[in-house]
Amino acid sequence: MDAASPPVALAIAGTDSGGGAGITADVRAFTACGVHGAVAVAAVTVQNSVGVSGFHAIPPDVVADQIRTVAGDMGIDAAKTGMLASTEIIRAVVAAADEVGLGTRVPFVVDPVAASMHGHPLLADDALGTLRDELIPRATLVTPNLDEVRLLVGVDVTDTDGAREAARLLVGLGAGAALVKGGHLEGSPEVVDLLLTADGSEHVFSSPRRETKHSHGGGDSLASAVTAGLARGMALPDAVALGKAYITRAVDHAYPLGAGHGPVSALW
Ligand code: PLP
Repeated sequence: MDAASPPVALAIAGTDSGGGAGITADVRAFTACGVHGAVAVAAVTVQNSVGVSGFHAIPPDVVADQIRTVAGDMGIDAAKTGMLASTEIIRAVVAAADEVGLGTRVPFVVDPVAASMHGHPLLADDALGTLRDELIPRATLVTPNLDEVRLLVGVDVTDTDGAREAARLLVGLGAGAALVKGGHLEGSPEVVDLLLTADGSEHVFSSPRRETKHSHGGGDSLASAVTAGLARGMALPDAVALGKAYITRAVDHAYPLGAGHGPVSALW
C-alpha cells in the first residue's frame, strides 16, 4: 500500500550553488518538518561559503508557470517566497499567487530577501517598493530580518519595543501578520523573534544565542519551517513555535564548510 500523501509546501526562491541558503535550505526545512517541498526557482545564484558572486534571474513567466503547474496537479498547502530578484518576477509571482489562491485560500509567507549576509544584493534596488506595495499586502505572514525591517519600514530595531513598532508598521502595509526575526541583533544573550498579527495579538519567542559564524541560510530556514507548520494546518503561533524549534536545532548543528560561513543544518 502507498504511504499517505504529505502536505505540500512550495518555495518560490533562489538557488544557492553551495547548498547553504535559498531553496536548498527551504527544502531541508520542509522535509525536516514533515512536508513535501515543491520549488519555483526565481533565480540561480553563483555562490559558495564565501559569498555570492553573481546571479541569473529566471524569466518571469517561467517562475509563474512553475507555481501554476504545481498548484494544478498536487495542490499547495502553504507557500513562501525568498529571493525574487526583480520587479518583473515579483509581479509575475503576484499574478500567479492570485490565480492559485496564495494568501487567500492558501497560507502565504513572504520572506522579503534583499541581500546576502555579506551584503551582496539579491533584489534589484527598484524592486523593493514593488515588494512592499504589491507582495507584502498579500502575505499571511511577512518575516523580515532586522536589515530588511530597516529597508521596508525605516525602523532601526535595537530591542523588543522597536521590534513591536516595526511589526505594527509591517502589518500596516497589509500583511496578515509580521514576524520580526531578531537573529541579527548582536550583543543580546537571547535571540528574540516577535510575532504580531493584524488582530493585535503578540507572541514573543526567545532562545539562547549560540555564537557561531556558521549561520548561512538561517533566515530562510526559519521562514520555511514556519511555512511547513502552516502547510500542516497549524495555527500561526504554533507554526512559528515549530519554526523557532527548528532553527534553534539547526543552528546547534551548524557546521563549517569551505573557507567562509557554513550552513545551519538539518543533519542531526
Ligand atoms: N542566497 C539565496 C538564494 C538566498 O535566498 C539567501 C537568503 O535569503 C541568501 C543567499 C543569503 O543567506 P545568508 O543571509 O545566510 O547569507
